[in-house]
Amino acid sequence: MYHDNGRGGRIMGRVEALLRFPELSEELWRKADASFPVRITRSWAERIQDLADPLARQALPDAAELVADDQDIVDPVGDRLRRPVPWVVRKHPDRVLLLMTRRCHLYCRYCFRRDDEGPEDPSPEELARALDYVRVSGARELILSGGDPLAVSDARLFSVLDAVRASVGHVRIHTRAPITAPFRVSAELVEGLRQRGPIWMLVHCNHPDELTAEVRAALARLSDAGIPLLCQSVLLAGVNDDLETLVRLSEALLSARVYPYYLHHPDPVPGNAAFRLSMERGLELHRALGRRVSGIGLPRYMVDPPDGLGKIEVAEWVRAGGRSPVE
Ligand code: SF4
Repeated sequence: MYHDNGRGGRIMGRVEALLRFPELSEELWRKADASFPVRITRSWAERIQDLADPLARQALPDAAELVADDQDIVDPVGDRLRRPVPWVVRKHPDRVLLLMTRRCHLYCRYCFRRDDEGPEDPSPEELARALDYVRVSGARELILSGGDPLAVSDARLFSVLDAVRASVGHVRIHTRAPITAPFRVSAELVEGLRQRGPIWMLVHCNHPDELTAEVRAALARLSDAGIPLLCQSVLLAGVNDDLETLVRLSEALLSARVYPYYLHHPDPVPGNAAFRLSMERGLELHRALGRRVSGIGLPRYMVDPPDGLGKIEVAEWVRAGGRSPVE
């Protein structure tokens, strides 16, 4: 877990959440938390209007996540088929992905890694082995992922970057922290990343209401330090599966100097069935979005199939009858 106990801190604890949202059941909270942790930042909670709010839907537990679905797939993106050493995923020769932690500031209820069980953090030996792998991998790009790589301390993050800096051409950080926990984007973090560039940051934002003034200020601190910002969104039923929301999201991201890079089809992990929609509906929305926003505002609509071969355009996947091209 992110180490902030919520008593006057930045995380809203269960008791406070149940007072704030009295329609929530404590029993449901406990059951959901046992299957995938429930954790919400105060910053996020302040943006929620009511339980029907798309931001509430992403973060608060729902009874639907406790029900198994016929379409559920364990490890829906095939990560576990591609782990040469613990905490490393390798799907492409030129890229290597390091899972820095399983912790996040806020646990998104649709998370595609919600069934990835194990310790919260690599042991010192596991981390050393993972870094050794990265150094000799021949990959030009290192992707820091998780969990959220910004859920670890600056000291750990910087030590990882320093350990591999000479071995890879550039680093990508995949993080939702600037959106869910904008307080994490401190001056020290930004300066430390600036010194260790070139670093690209892929943030994860699904709805325009996530981009409050506090979030936009955090994003501006990163942009001003020369860190290019791209966004990965997930297309989620009941959150952003309507054209007007997607148009507003694209415009809000561009205004915040964030390139809307990917729109992901939701991965069918056990527990997230209520967030899924058909690819036909997704393609229809994506085509309509293309008629409403400029080229730089249109994300690529992608799916990460269970075969572990990596992401592919949904349109291509559908044309191929649901098969990935062989590498
Ligand atoms: S921030 Fe990312 S890894 Fe963490 S719960 Fe959300 S989707 Fe999953």
